[in-house]
Amino acid sequence: MAWRVEVDTDKCTGDEECVNVCPTGVFEMQEGKAVPVNEDECLGCESCIEVCPSAAITITETESAHRSGQRTPA
Ligand code: SF4
Repeated sequence: MAWRVEVDTDKCTGDEECVNVCPTGVFEMQEGKAVPVNEDECLGCESCIEVCPSAAITITETESAHRSGQRTPA
């Protein structure tokens, strides 16, 4: 499963809640904003979405994850 992690920097207040809650260390603080530097490690658990007070985070399943699940032998 692959996930795209996006942070709306206009909404991010830099409280670091996502940095603290993420079990795989996806986020890093850069210039007062959370940045998803390890997106490949995302589990899609949505814990960061739940703790974010400004609803700045979006998690979406990537197209490549769908494709790999649909591949069937010829
Ligand atoms: S969904 Fe879970 S694993 Fe992915 S960035 Fe958020 S807290 Fe981390």
